[in-house]
Amino acid sequence: MASNDTKSSDYIGTSRKPRNIKLHNQRVVISVIREARSVSVREVATRINLSVTTVTKIFESLQQQDIIRSAGKGSSTLEGGKRPEIYNLNENYRYAFGCYINSTQAVVSLVNFKGKNIDERRIRFAVTDSLNESFKKVAGIIRSMTKDARIDEKKICGVAAGFDGIVDADRGIVKYPIRCTGWGRDIPVRDILKELLPEYGPIIIDNGGRFASYAQFVEAPEYRNKTVFNVIAGDYSVGCLIEKGEIERGSNGFLGEIGHMTILPSYRKSLCTCGNYGCFETLVSPNAIIGWAKDIGKETRDDVIYPKIVEGRCGYQDIFDAANRGNAFAQNVVGLLAGIFSMLIRNIALSCDPEVIVISGIYANAGRYFEETLLKKIQEISLFNIERKTVIRYAKNNKNVNSQLGGALYVLDNHVNTIEII
Ligand SMILES: [Zn+2]
Repeated sequence: MASNDTKSSDYIGTSRKPRNIKLHNQRVVISVIREARSVSVREVATRINLSVTTVTKIFESLQQQDIIRSAGKGSSTLEGGKRPEIYNLNENYRYAFGCYINSTQAVVSLVNFKGKNIDERRIRFAVTDSLNESFKKVAGIIRSMTKDARIDEKKICGVAAGFDGIVDADRGIVKYPIRCTGWGRDIPVRDILKELLPEYGPIIIDNGGRFASYAQFVEAPEYRNKTVFNVIAGDYSVGCLIEKGEIERGSNGFLGEIGHMTILPSYRKSLCTCGNYGCFETLVSPNAIIGWAKDIGKETRDDVIYPKIVEGRCGYQDIFDAANRGNAFAQNVVGLLAGIFSMLIRNIALSCDPEVIVISGIYANAGRYFEETLLKKIQEISLFNIERKTVIRYAKNNKNVNSQLGGALYVLDNHVNTIEII
């Protein structure tokens, strides 16, 4: 093996045995091809600092296994050399299913090897459906989606299922399904689904918020190599720490439950579902935003937005928009919310210390005033220059932030890590 083969800048293997180095190189090459639309051998070799010979060999094996396909010749190099052969990922190489299941409905997504959602279906359960009947319906949908897409079951590399509440992902058990009355506790969902879908590969379960957080890699695949904390705030708030593509759950499955992080213990207006006061979730939800606006409006004079809020003709997005347009009252409300977020971010930075914090959910569309004020607030409270060290990013397309898509992507990534192309 050429000496520069081990120079790969993001070498993460723990053992330097040739076989491990080879596997590692293969995985790095696959990940670069998955991120890029189409690539040549030389592009990949330059990007990850491997020899052209090594990358050529890996490309040959990938082509033999039909993981990549030639897409013809690219444009010639600047030096006027030969036009390079360009390769694409074979999007039909494997497929994965992801679902989000609660006691009233399920949403199921089918994604191809490129992580593209090719079919999504929703099923509502009857009130009389037992848990087993509901799961049978989910399995039935998965089977008919497979059939309609004319996919051989052998090409399906697994099924992800996301649930609300506390999930023991390792044991495949939903320990405490919040908001699913009638389900009981400690439900062995992985075994139930495996029995219904034995030929569908591994069944991977987790908290739906964690899978939704994983869906950020649709927009930002480059974050797979970073430590990222995703915050989803809305009616409910959840978070997830993803360390170089690995979902971190903690010892008891609590890691990332930022919705229940105490931010303002003295705030007594709404009791959280967890039984405590001052949880982050109760301070930033759409209802909470309107509540804050009513409080602030009583004290300050505003003729434009406040009367509409009192009459129920104004939602949280109107407040965000008015703040962006310069309305002082709306800016007060958004400023207060940014202050709450700054405390959350400080707590996340101190407990998880991620490289990137991604904000998804309703605050991803709050706009310039929220973003600028949040940065200012973080600077004010930060002893450690968190704002200079941690990148804060906003999800561009909230439509992608969902449990079924993220779960399917997670299954796909797990499968890619097991590919051995010797
Ligand atoms: Zn709570």
